[in-house]
Amino acid sequence: MPQISSPYAGERVALATRHGKQRVIGRSLRHGLGAELLHLPDIDTDALGSFCGTVERRGTALEAGIAKAELALEHGGTGLAIASEGSFGPHPALPLLAVGLEVMVFLDRERGLTIQEQLLTRRTNFAQRQLSLAAIDSESGRADLQRWLQAVGFPSHGLIVRPQAHNAGAAALHKGVHDWPTLLTAIRTAAAATPEPVVLLDTDMRAHCNPTRMASIRQLSFRLVRRIRSLCPACGAPGWGLERHQAGLPCAWCRTPTSLNQAEIFGCRQCGHEQRRPRHDGLEAADPGQCPSCNP
Ligand SMILES: [Zn+2]
Ligand SMILES: [Zn+2]
Repeated sequence: MPQISSPYAGERVALATRHGKQRVIGRSLRHGLGAELLHLPDIDTDALGSFCGTVERRGTALEAGIAKAELALEHGGTGLAIASEGSFGPHPALPLLAVGLEVMVFLDRERGLTIQEQLLTRRTNFAQRQLSLAAIDSESGRADLQRWLQAVGFPSHGLIVRPQAHNAGAAALHKGVHDWPTLLTAIRTAAAATPEPVVLLDTDMRAHCNPTRMASIRQLSFRLVRRIRSLCPACGAPGWGLERHQAGLPCAWCRTPTSLNQAEIFGCRQCGHEQRRPRHDGLEAADPGQCPSCNP
C-alpha cells in the first residue's frame, strides 16, 4: 500500500451494506486515507427505512446515516464506521425537477467524532408513474411507457412495481426489475392483486440498481475522505471543513445586506474552532436586482 499521510492509515472502517456500496466507498478509503473497508453484508439496514416504503424511515437522512454507521460500529467491532443515506424528491423551488440528497457519515468512536458531507444533485432518475393494465395492452399506451422507461434509464436502472392500493400485500411488490419480460409479468401480477388494475412504477433507488446514484455515492465518498484528511488548524482533529454559509452579501449600490451568501464558515466539530472565509467565487457585492432596498 502506498504511504499516505492520514490519521487513519492502516485502520479498518466498517460499512454495513447489501447494495454494493462497498466497492466505491472502499476505493476512496483506500486511496484517500490508506484505510481498509470492513464490509458487513449481513446487516439489514433496510430495517432502518427502505426506498420501497415497506419500512418508513424515521428522522432525517443524516440521522438515518448516523444510525446505520452506529449499527456497523456495533457489529464490526471496529472503532471506525462509515454509512451513506439518500433521499429523493421534487426540487423545493422547482417541483417538476427531481433532486437527490446524499449524506455520508464517518464515525470515529475513540475521538468521539462524527464527520459528515452531503451532495445535492439534480442528476437523478427519481420518478414515479401510474399505469393501468389497459394501457400496456394498447399500442399508444406501450409507446408512452417506452418513452418513460427510456427517460428513467431502464433497463440499466431498475424499477419497483406494485399495486396502487396500499393494502395489497408484499407478494405483489417487485423490486429490482431490470428487463422487459420481468416488467410485464410484474405489472400483470401487481394489477391482479387488487380489484382496481392500476399499478405504480417507481425508479429503484437502491445503489446496486441505480448506476446514477452509485456515481453520486462515489463522488460524495471522495468529498468525505477529503474532509476527513483536513485537520483542524487549532486542535489537529480530522474533519475540518465547510460548516455553513453566512448570508448578507451587500448590495453593490446601497450596501444593504441581501439574502445571498457573503461568506463560508469553516469549522471543527471537536473543539468548536471556526474560520470565516470570503465566497469561493470572489463575489464581494450583490447585483442591485437582488437587493430588498433597490428592488423591493
Ligand atoms: Zn479543532
Ligand atoms: Zn441596494
